[in-house]
Amino acid sequence: MPKPISVPEVQSFLGMVNHYGKFIPHLHEMKQPLEDLTRKNRTWLWDQTHDLAFNQIKKVMLSPLLLDHYDPSKTLIVAANACATGIGAVLLQRDSNGHERAVYHMSQSLTDAQRNYSQLEKEALALVTTVKRFHKFVWGRRFILQTDHKPLVALLQTENTKGLKATTAARLKRWALRLMGYDFKIEFIRTQDFGHADALSRLIDKFRRDNAEELQVASIQAMESELLQLKNRSIDFFGKELRNNLKKATKEDPLLRSVFQAISEDWKTKEVSESLEYFKRRSEDLSIVDDTLLFGDRVVIPEVLRPTILAALHKGHPGIRRTKQLAREFVYWPKMSDDIEHLVRQCDACALNQKLPIKVPLDPWPAPSRPMKRVYIDFAGPIEGQYLLIFVDAYSKFLGVAITPTISSARTVDLCREFFSRFGPPEVFVTDHGTQFTSELFAVFCKEMQISHLLAAVNHPQSNGQAERMVDTVKRAIAKDPTNWKRQLFDFLHNYRYTPCSESPSGKSPAELLFGRRMNSPFSKLLPKPETHEPAPPASAEKQLAMEKQFLKHHGARPFYLTLGDRVIVLTCKDKREQGVIHK
Ligand SMILES: [Zn+2]
Repeated sequence: MPKPISVPEVQSFLGMVNHYGKFIPHLHEMKQPLEDLTRKNRTWLWDQTHDLAFNQIKKVMLSPLLLDHYDPSKTLIVAANACATGIGAVLLQRDSNGHERAVYHMSQSLTDAQRNYSQLEKEALALVTTVKRFHKFVWGRRFILQTDHKPLVALLQTENTKGLKATTAARLKRWALRLMGYDFKIEFIRTQDFGHADALSRLIDKFRRDNAEELQVASIQAMESELLQLKNRSIDFFGKELRNNLKKATKEDPLLRSVFQAISEDWKTKEVSESLEYFKRRSEDLSIVDDTLLFGDRVVIPEVLRPTILAALHKGHPGIRRTKQLAREFVYWPKMSDDIEHLVRQCDACALNQKLPIKVPLDPWPAPSRPMKRVYIDFAGPIEGQYLLIFVDAYSKFLGVAITPTISSARTVDLCREFFSRFGPPEVFVTDHGTQFTSELFAVFCKEMQISHLLAAVNHPQSNGQAERMVDTVKRAIAKDPTNWKRQLFDFLHNYRYTPCSESPSGKSPAELLFGRRMNSPFSKLLPKPETHEPAPPASAEKQLAMEKQFLKHHGARPFYLTLGDRVIVLTCKDKREQGVIHK
């Protein structure tokens, strides 16, 4: 936070200070010298007293005294504001006494293009950017969104963009769409009551930087751990203690507890409450195994864990249908389908990359009878200079993707060789007429692998339709997180492979059809017992470990540790040994 160098800047600084003033003891005395500076008819003279006052206040402002811990039980307020060159925002929480305290501050300078926006657009941009930045805190919660720009209140709520410039209208619509997934009430605050956000955006002027990177104004050390906690909440749940967490949450869920109770008594003859009635109607399929409520072979998820499970189901951004298919394989709760639809509809990334209702061409090929009978292949990209080589097994719908910077014939052959080393070569290989596939090199490779290579008919694009459809699916999946596309690609592939597929025989997942067993997923360990079709483990985990230890002991292998200065013999290559000493 730089020293103010003019009266308006001092005013702006004091505006922010006053907002939090109620929490700072002796603030009045502290800020007196600065207030004097803003008096009328006073000449500007900044001296040591002002330095002292400014530094003192700054110190208090940055102390944890002013920053509150994130507390989900308090009312959340997001206030954002824009000035000519930047946006500023603060995340506040209001306690039951109506006191507001900051949880997080942020400010960011505008890019050159954004500086040319109208004030209305800048204010809207501030709101959207801020909500996105505070996503971790506000997602899935109701919050208040504050602006001091009155026209926005109506515009963002009613989508009434009549009378606006076409580009402005389009921009606002796009932003309104991005905000749609959040649950907020928009509120107008008079500019003079808006000191906290206002001062933040004016700070930007002072931080001229080459890039438009974010700038965090306040110390948020206290926040870091909270943030991390939120981020890790789902990881925690799916961690080692998964079963225990589930059991604990099940025990603490009032509804599930009464279902447990009802099952142990005979509830068929009893009158039950309305919420229990839902389970009563399904009582034939309900059972309790290892303190877990099962519906068929699916785990009934207690209410508190549903958001976490929903997020995990939607990892990699599968669409509504696929998310539901995955859910029905492992989990159950009342109105689960509705919750999934709601989640995916509210997902920005999914909304922006929705599949256009294109006519899906009929696959003219006969249905294959087993995996790797026929494989389709096609290229997609480039994305950031990388191409994707996409393999689709016609039987299992298993999807393989290789990332490559070049698409020469030699490289294509290498990638196919790699893919087939894992899954075995297919009997029939279907490609389009790309030069890689019509090359001599490719023909020799197919002959060597004993693969019949079929070229899709030029005027008959649907003969390679499965590959093209998968190219489209993969592209859309990547577009859902373009800044992190490789991670998004692999998350999508993992999710895709363990999700049951309605288009494949018996509706099993691609992985299960190809490998003959379910692929491990975050959900497999939710189930209370090993799945029946899996061979029983040869020994318990502890026994296994003991056996491994025994093996190591028997073979004289034991861990040893080296420290600095230890003399060692190094085996440099086949039979050469050299002396050495351990150093850093
Ligand atoms: Zn999504």
